Amino acid sequence: MSMRGWISRNFWKRARYRATEEVLREIAHFNPQTTPNPYLLSTLQQALEEVPYYRQFSSGNGSPGSIEQFPLLTRQHLQNQFADLQNDQISRNGWRGHGTSGSMGTPVAFIHDAIQHNWVRATEMWYYQNMVGMDLTDNPRVIIWSSSELLWGNKMDLSNRINLYLSQADRLGATLFTPAEFSETVRVINRRRPKLIQGYARCLYEIARYIQANNLRVHAPDVIVTTAENLLPEMRALIEEIFRAPVRDLYGTREVGFIAGQCSHGRMHRFTFNVHSEIVNDQGNSVAVGETGEVVVTSLHNRAMPLIRYSVSDMAVEPHQTNCPCGSRLPTFGDFGGRMGDYFPTAKGNMVYGFHFFRILRDENWIQSFLIVQTKIDLIEVRYVPAASTPAGPTHRAEERIRLVMGEECRVIWTPVDQLPPTQAGKRHYAISLPSYQAQQKRSGTN
Ligand SMILES: [Zn+2]
Repeated sequence: MSMRGWISRNFWKRARYRATEEVLREIAHFNPQTTPNPYLLSTLQQALEEVPYYRQFSSGNGSPGSIEQFPLLTRQHLQNQFADLQNDQISRNGWRGHGTSGSMGTPVAFIHDAIQHNWVRATEMWYYQNMVGMDLTDNPRVIIWSSSELLWGNKMDLSNRINLYLSQADRLGATLFTPAEFSETVRVINRRRPKLIQGYARCLYEIARYIQANNLRVHAPDVIVTTAENLLPEMRALIEEIFRAPVRDLYGTREVGFIAGQCSHGRMHRFTFNVHSEIVNDQGNSVAVGETGEVVVTSLHNRAMPLIRYSVSDMAVEPHQTNCPCGSRLPTFGDFGGRMGDYFPTAKGNMVYGFHFFRILRDENWIQSFLIVQTKIDLIEVRYVPAASTPAGPTHRAEERIRLVMGEECRVIWTPVDQLPPTQAGKRHYAISLPSYQAQQKRSGTN
């Protein structure tokens, strides 16, 4: 074992994870089949009694009733009701404020208490131990994330750096998607030889493309865990091929923590001990088995600021719940349909999934990176960083393929740019649909 590994195991791990041991024991004793979920019951009860925003939904007889009596909660509520969503009956000791990545637009502030913090950490530990088969704290890993230096213009603070060093983690930025950045990433992976690579799905996919295009050799980890973005099937296939390792998707949001994670059989198990999740229709009612709906989540351990039926802007299918061969009794999500904003409305009233454009453009080798923006119902703008001078033929070919799904009347504008701006956490969108574009315009107009 390396010196760094020894220090990590004997000092860092003990200090950092002491507080999660109790939570891990609770998770081990949690029975997913118990209904109603006792954590959910106490969350609803406490919210009605202790949180100004939720008091209005009290039935008056003191019982929490069912979760359906609560309306859906959006990012707008979080912004506008920020004060009223906070518990006004308990001490604010150990509360911490956070901002979200704003991958859907506006950054939002929210609060976690110390218990929520421990549950987030413990749930991650539990996932790696029980579903990935790896001790998160015992293995060298490389994290491919957004670079805070580039995004915020400042260095990561010292405690963060020490923490990463001691956890045997190397954190690499994938922010600008330049060849220099990619080649540095590959160099560090090959030098560190991590057992685990964690990172944003899109970043890993772009690095895999870079490795493939440049015919490089990269160290194969035991497993790759993607987070924070939808892992599309074709992205997964390429990442697995290039890194010669299985990819698992860990699903969560910063507001509520980890929601679900993929097991060795590829099913997305819902962490019902940490977050209650529902798949609902426009009216907020649960969809039937086989139907697609919006994912809404309820944090079960954040008494400081409980979020109940919070919309995370993802779509998923409600699957027929059957026993998973992996042995876990946690229920599962069906397929994820992608970010809601990624559906493009057409003049004819159809909806086109944004990933379709990704398919059209990813094979155009004269484009290094791109962002497709629907600025009008019949106008698509392709902002792209050119890899070579723009040839006429392929532009025409791509336009035809875009019209095929968007309609004959759809126009396409090609705008070469030097660089595509990352969103705040360095997550990249390759497609912005008309509703998302209009929402963005409205925000920048009112700010
Ligand atoms: Zn399973």
